[in-house]
Formats: sequence, C-alpha cells, structure tokens
Amino acid sequence: MSNLTRDFFIGLSNNEYLNKTAKKWGFRLGADKFVAGTNIESVTNIVKELNSHGITCTLDRLGEFVSEREEATEAKEGCINLLEKIKSENLNCHVSIKLTQLGLDIDENFCVNNMQEILQVANAYNIFINIDMEDYARYEQTFDVLHILRKEYDNIGTVIQSYLHRTESDLDQLQDVRLRLVKGAYKESEKVAYQDKKKIDRNFIQLAKTRLLGRTFTSIATHDHHLIEELIDFIRANNIDQEMFEFQMLYGFRNDMQYSLAEEGYNFCTYIPFGIDWFGYFMRRMAERPQNINLVMKDTLYTKDNKLKKKPVIAGGVAAILFVLLLWKRKKNK
Ligand SMILES: Cc1cc2nc3c(=O)[nH]c(=O)nc-3n(C[C@H](O)[C@H](O)[C@H](O)COP(=O)(O)OP(=O)(O)OC[C@H]3O[C@@H](n4cnc5c(N)ncnc54)[C@H](O)[C@@H]3O)c2cc1C
Repeated sequence: MSNLTRDFFIGLSNNEYLNKTAKKWGFRLGADKFVAGTNIESVTNIVKELNSHGITCTLDRLGEFVSEREEATEAKEGCINLLEKIKSENLNCHVSIKLTQLGLDIDENFCVNNMQEILQVANAYNIFINIDMEDYARYEQTFDVLHILRKEYDNIGTVIQSYLHRTESDLDQLQDVRLRLVKGAYKESEKVAYQDKKKIDRNFIQLAKTRLLGRTFTSIATHDHHLIEELIDFIRANNIDQEMFEFQMLYGFRNDMQYSLAEEGYNFCTYIPFGIDWFGYFMRRMAERPQNINLVMKDTLYTKDNKLKKKPVIAGGVAAILFVLLLWKRKKNK
C-alpha cells in the first residue's frame, strides 16, 4: 500500500472527532467484518464456536481517546464484567487491553490502580491479561506500567513491534515476559521505526527466532503466510516445543488459514475486538491492506445477496470517497 494511503487511514484513526461521532453511528462501512459486535453477548457465541475448533481467543473491549477519569473507570468495570463472563461461560480466552483506555494519558498511577483491580479478578480466575502496544509515544510508559504490575502479578504480558529499531535490544529485559510479536500498526518516524517492509519482515523473523529459542511463551501475530511458513520451517528444524508458542490473527482475517493452522495442531488464538468504539481500530485495518478497502466498498454498495443498497446516496457517497482513494493509491503505486 502506498505510504500516502496508509497515512490517510492512520490519520483518520487518530481523529478524535470522527472516533467519537462513529460511536453514535453504530456499525457502518462494513466494520462488522472485523469487529465482532457491540457487546459481550455478541462475542460469546463467536468464542464458543472458535473454542469448539480448538482455537482460543483474546478479547479486546474497544476504547479510544479516553481523556476523562469516568471513561477510564467505566472501561475498567467493562473489563471486569468481561472477566466475569469468561469465567461464568467457561470460555477459553484471555483479554487484551490498551493502557490509554484505563487512563494512561490522564495519570499513570490511576492507570496502574485500574489495572491492579482488573488483574486481581483475572488472577483469581486464572485468566491472562495482555497489554496491547500502542504508538511509540506510549512505549516506555507501557513498559514502566508492565514492570510495576509484574511485581505483584505474573498473569500479564505485552506486545513487541518489529518495526521499531530498539525492539531487539529491549528483548533482553523481557526474557521472562510472555509476549505477542507484531509488525506494528502505527505511523512512526524513521528515527524510531523501519519504514521499509522488507526490513520490518526480516526483523520480525529475527525477533521470532530469538523468542522461540528462549524460555518464555510467544504469540506470533501476523497474517503474512511467507513469515508463518518460514517460522514453521524453523520450528520443525529446531524441535521447538509446541507449548511455547501460538499463532495469532485478527478476527475476520484469513479464516481458512486460522482453521487450517489449528487443524495442523498448532496452538492458535484469534484476537476479537468488540464494542461501540470501532472506528480507530477499523481505520488501522484499512491502513494495512488495500484489499480491505475493496471489501468495504463492496459492502457499502451491495446487500449480502448482491443487490444495490436502498440508500444509494449515502452508500454511493462513502463508496465514491473510497473509490477515489483507491485510484489515487494505484496511481501512486505505478
Ligand atoms: C493478533 C494481532 C494482534 C495485534 N496487536 C497489535 C498491537 O498490540 N500493537 C500494534 O501496533 N499492532 C498490533 N497488530 C497489528 C500488526 O502490528 C500489523 O499492523 C498487522 O498485523 C498487519 O501486518 P501483518 O503481519 O498481518 O501482514 P501485512 O504486512 O499487512 O501483510 C503481509 C502480507 O501478508 C499477506 N496477507 C496479509 N493479510 C492478508 C489477508 N487478510 N488475506 C490474505 N493475505 C494477507 C499478503 O501477502 C501481504 O502482502 C496486531 C496484529 C495481530 C494479527
């Protein structure tokens, strides 16, 4: 994808006004392809179905731009309700959390307290909590909070991003931390992050190998079959214990591959986002892959049985914007 198109969608994902307005719209623009519903009930059945195929899940109760304590407290209560639901329904899943949702940008101590309350419940129910990694501006603070929490709790881990130059050198201090490895979803400067896809991919492989040879569990989170195939060869050649890693993909992406990796006997975990705050997450997915824009365009213009939608003015307007973007992107790619 051209950097311009990517930057455009990342820009939309960072737009507070659009994020807040989209909460009132309900699902639009085909967001339901990638977001599993607005409440815990809608997610429960999806988790049960995946569990029945031997796939575990990680649930993300979406929330962006939290700037008020009340919002963060509400998010904390939402996470605790989610843990109660996981326990009462006996779901095979853990929870992914963004620290900004729990007040990181308001006050670090307040955020730590919120996390402690969540971890206390999660610990009692033996549920793992993963801190998602956000943009580089929050990188060091995220690790500070992690290390504070790890003094009391060990059912917690976080994410490392292969686009960052420093990740390899940071790995040493993370040897005992359960980690998810991703490429990285935010727009970062060349000072801190590789901009070239090949370098990001090579670093991903290098980091994955280091972790696979280490002593702590790693989630390899990518939809990139080239990387997965290369790592499977490495895992076989080095007799890596299957219990030391899993593959992870996002809900709605490469379903066939998710099922086939699980059928081949690999631990597999699907990351499932849900909730009304879908816009930022959805725009970051648009930024990652041109085909996602095509899918959304089709969804916006046509009903499920391939008929043109009855509200052609709105649908057409949205589709026209997406279409112009697509043309623009293709032109730039030439
Ligand atoms: C489970 C999970 C959790 C994540 N958590 C975080 C996080 O906490 N912080 C963060 O910054 N980022 C996170 N991300 C996002 C991540 O950083 C990447 O932005 C995202 O995964 C896109 O990179 P990719 O490795 O999947 O493949 P890409 O680099 O997008 O694609 C590489 C190649 O893979 C193939 N491919 C990719 N997707 C598809 C598809 N849908 N269908 C067919 N082929 C495809 C294509 O050949 C493509 O050229 C997470 C991703 C996953 C999967």
